[in-house]
Amino acid sequence: MVEHVIARSLDEALDCLNQHEYTILSGGTDHMVQKRSWAGTKPLFTKPVLFLHQVKELYGIKVDSNVMEIGAMTSMTCIEEHPQTPTILKECIRQIASPGIRNAATLAGNIANASPAADAVCVLIALHAKVVISSANHTYETFVEQVITGPRKTILKQNEMITAIHIPLLVPTFHAFYKVGGRMADAISKISLAGFIYIHNGKIAEFRLCFGAVGPKVIRNVEQDFAMLGKDIEYLAMEMDSYIDSYIEAISPIDDQRSTKEYRQMVAKNLIKKFILSFVEATNG
Ligand SMILES: Cc1cc2nc3c(=O)[nH]c(=O)nc-3n(C[C@H](O)[C@H](O)[C@H](O)COP(=O)(O)OP(=O)(O)OC[C@H]3O[C@@H](n4cnc5c(N)ncnc54)[C@H](O)[C@@H]3O)c2cc1C
Repeated sequence: MVEHVIARSLDEALDCLNQHEYTILSGGTDHMVQKRSWAGTKPLFTKPVLFLHQVKELYGIKVDSNVMEIGAMTSMTCIEEHPQTPTILKECIRQIASPGIRNAATLAGNIANASPAADAVCVLIALHAKVVISSANHTYETFVEQVITGPRKTILKQNEMITAIHIPLLVPTFHAFYKVGGRMADAISKISLAGFIYIHNGKIAEFRLCFGAVGPKVIRNVEQDFAMLGKDIEYLAMEMDSYIDSYIEAISPIDDQRSTKEYRQMVAKNLIKKFILSFVEATNG
């Protein structure tokens, strides 16, 4: 049997992390693939495992002052079924894995696993979501993009864990999540795009594009996004091609086992174009 602790409260979980090195296990959907061994033998965990499934404080969704607080152990299925979950996040969750996996998988796990192809991370960054990080001694909040530093790398310290995700509930004027995978269901993204536009008084007040699976981590090109602020829809339509070229140059897609750099560049261009044209059509329509 794998050495483990089943925490019964948040305090107990944080105390454990404060005293020893543990591997945190939430839904286990990434872990059980990464740590699998031969059939009939125990998984390859190198540290004791801290199970969170009995920590009641980490479950549930609350909405307060236009911010949705999602407990770290809340399953993707529960999030997808909640009436106030932003539509773009619901659309994304429906494209992640399969119903069985989504019953166990969590947003906290999707973030802490820090995969460059993490679909929910892509949408959470486009939504300007924050992560609540706690230890026995402190709690703080930071943006999702600041938590992930590289492939499978985060800022989380050994005694810290994600306890919640905060999503501001600003309703976008237009949003979309596009995922390109090898098949229609249960596919890891070859490339994904989450886009969020908010128009105020006829001008672009928020413009956020976030790409998954083009580089070592999910990325948003903040400089290019900021260049759109204050512009009107006609400007966006007119400047689309030069905007796309400079955007692609800045994110410089990479080669890996799933796709080539050239393929990713072409698809990334097509996805931005599709997003902008769909937005212009929806707004004029
Ligand atoms: C068949 C299959 C298909 C999949 N398809 C997709 C897909 O389409 N898109 C996609 O994005 N992902 C996909 N995944 C990956 C996975 O389901 C998600 O990344 C999921 O969100 C992970 O959540 P979890 O709770 O299961 O994480 P776990 O496996 O429990 O943990 C993942 C990592 O996060 C850490 N962690 C977990 N919880 C916390 C916490 N509260 N605080 C700090 N660290 C924590 C763990 O220590 C571990 O390093 C797939 C997985 C499988 C097996």
